[in-house]
Amino acid sequence: MENLKSLLSRHNLTLKKAFGQNFLSDNALLSEIVQKAGVTENDTVLEIGCGAGALTKELGLKAKKVVGYEIDTRLKPLLNEVLSDYKNVEIVFEDVMKQRLSDVEKKLGGEYIMVANLPYYITTPIVMRFIEEAKNIKAMVIMVQEEVAYRFASEKSTADYGAITVGINLRGSAEVILKVPREKFTPAPNVDSAVVKILIDKTKFSNVNFNAVRNVVRCAFSSRRKMLVNNLMNVFKLSRADAESVITLAGLDLTVRGENLSAEEYVALTEN
Ligand code: SAM
Repeated sequence: MENLKSLLSRHNLTLKKAFGQNFLSDNALLSEIVQKAGVTENDTVLEIGCGAGALTKELGLKAKKVVGYEIDTRLKPLLNEVLSDYKNVEIVFEDVMKQRLSDVEKKLGGEYIMVANLPYYITTPIVMRFIEEAKNIKAMVIMVQEEVAYRFASEKSTADYGAITVGINLRGSAEVILKVPREKFTPAPNVDSAVVKILIDKTKFSNVNFNAVRNVVRCAFSSRRKMLVNNLMNVFKLSRADAESVITLAGLDLTVRGENLSAEEYVALTEN
């Protein structure tokens, strides 16, 4: 089978750093990602950033339907060639960030899994957008920078734990499922990567005002080293007595910082 370098050169393609183009070509690794993602013949998959189609093909073999988004229209002839036998795969040559999520979900037609080797420059905006707004997503299985993967899956009261971790825990849970060394990519980036699986649980906190909770989370991490009481006073203009009373009513210690609270505790705090 033709290797990645020869495929790219036959199509006169040089990879663009600005689009986060670090491609995979190790078939065993790609197959492991799709297998760990748990994709079956009943699943619809959203892939963001199809590149030279290596992951897309693997997904096309396992899933019922694949919808891929690719910003770089130069890849069109290559992807048309590589995916010509895959009738269940549709590639949309658009910037996924500029699409309305409702339009993306309409194309998918029902519940779906996101499986992607994400362009690193938009990892956090993509994850936050799908976590906060997507209606039909069941899981996200995404390759990200290793340190970002550990941030997503971190426990409270650790250095990695941040507002995005709480955001993920409000809708589900994250687990690092595979480490991928930088040498597996063409070209090799400066950092190692990892695949993280975020399972979405729609029943979690079903009656919660998520926007209100997210405002409280943003407030608590606005000055990470400050105690929650000070951030509440600064951001929401509360008196010290009111800020302390909100914290105590939520069953928390007055000395806590944002990084010490679980998603459940943020919900309790917001309700108070
Ligand atoms: N899936 C391929 C693989 O695993 O080899 C390529 C992954 S590469 C890390 C990321 C891909 O995302 C690139 O092909 C890039 O052009 C594409 N991309 C970057 N920004 C995008 C955006 N906003 N919307 C859609 N695709 C994007």
